[in-house]
Amino acid sequence: MTGRAFPAGLFAGSRFAVAGLGRNGSAVVKTLLAMGAEVQAWDDKSPPEADPAQPRFTAAPIETLAGFDALILSPGIPHLLPAPHAVAVRAREAGVPILSDAEILFQAVRRAGSRARFAAITGTNGKSTTTALLAHMLERAGRPVAAGGNLGTASLALPLLPDDGVYVIEMSSYMLERLHSFHADTACLLNLTPDHLDRHGDMAGYAAAKRHVFDNMTRDDLAVIGIDDDYCQEIAQDYTAQGLTVMTLSVNDAHSVAAIAVPMREAPTLPGVHNLQNALAAAAMAHHLGLDDDAVAEGLRSYPGLPHRQALAGVIDGIRFINDSKATNAEAAEKALLCYDRVVWIAGGTAKSGGIETLTPLFGRIAKAFLIGRDASVLEKTLKEHHVPVEIVGTLEAATTAGLAAAKAHDVPVVLLSPACASFDQFTSFEARGSYFVDILTRLRDSDTP
Ligand code: ADP
Repeated sequence: MTGRAFPAGLFAGSRFAVAGLGRNGSAVVKTLLAMGAEVQAWDDKSPPEADPAQPRFTAAPIETLAGFDALILSPGIPHLLPAPHAVAVRAREAGVPILSDAEILFQAVRRAGSRARFAAITGTNGKSTTTALLAHMLERAGRPVAAGGNLGTASLALPLLPDDGVYVIEMSSYMLERLHSFHADTACLLNLTPDHLDRHGDMAGYAAAKRHVFDNMTRDDLAVIGIDDDYCQEIAQDYTAQGLTVMTLSVNDAHSVAAIAVPMREAPTLPGVHNLQNALAAAAMAHHLGLDDDAVAEGLRSYPGLPHRQALAGVIDGIRFINDSKATNAEAAEKALLCYDRVVWIAGGTAKSGGIETLTPLFGRIAKAFLIGRDASVLEKTLKEHHVPVEIVGTLEAATTAGLAAAKAHDVPVVLLSPACASFDQFTSFEARGSYFVDILTRLRDSDTP
């Protein structure tokens, strides 16, 4: 990541309240203090400590918002649904804006006098991949780039970029509800399927949050919208009618697909139709940001991929082990299963509502399933009803060993960990689950080597 620190004093005289001190909130506090602001911060679960060396920092519960310029709420803290946090209610009563860290980043970049451009990416699925892919394309083309946001580096941990730089920001729906002056030069809505409805009330609320990615855009900017679902199709029509420059994308559009088909075939890290949607989106935004076809193709070819998303975790006796630990629901696992004709499947953990019913059309591809975790029996029931050979083995370790043996016995080239379940019953995160899979494979491979 290229760039420099923001000037000290950029927010001198401003007062911010920061609620929630996770990855994002901590970066907000640190950076705002470095920029000269006064900051009061609190976290109900892990209260911060006062720092005698930093008189502009107050570690105390935020009882009143009077006199603050803004409240910055961590993405995990609701300001509306299912119930607004008390601090959000107080901010609204005091007429103090509730902002996300991405908004502050935008304001800081402009205050610092940089004309660096912003690319914002949202959608239900594929945000991280598209963000990483676009950033990679720009970086390969020699452009100063800083990428982060919802995943990776927190927005306010990103450096100040020069005028020719580009910020590529992954936006969650929570961040999008807390923007104000943020203005993307190009923004993308990849797709919309029901998700996080507890926080947005219903699909209309969720879609309304996602629409904010296009706020403040003008005709000179480019809105990129995947129109392979009805919600996004409607949003694209709306914005086109309003006069925005909208580029619609569909994986069924032969012309657009042909334009990137060759480098996509050569990109082992972008398997499946879902990645075609991500690649089309990244390419459209990259073009708007000044990259030519060759630069886009080069970026696709050399994209290294993100960990835990259909990443090759190891090869033992010619059998490929794929780590798709990020697939925490059936929809994501579906994308992975679609990429292989025949697999040994490792799944299970904490099942999402609806289980794996939607995967039944793909069951014919599963030579054998090994199930782990709390809800293994829920998945087993569905698989058995459809006569898929299945065994509950409990742990990931047992599943990996059994998976190798079954793949050898049935001559199956791929063992796929794509759990269709959350990991929290056995692991601290999907990352921990995926990393453990890689560790097991390393040990298995070492013990397998004569
Ligand atoms: P996000 O950041 O939105 O969670 P990721 O890029 O991390 O998305 O991908 C997470 C999982 O979602 C992938 O492993 C894949 O199974 C699925 N996925 C990725 N891109 C898409 C897409 N465009 N449409 C549907 N599913 C996708």
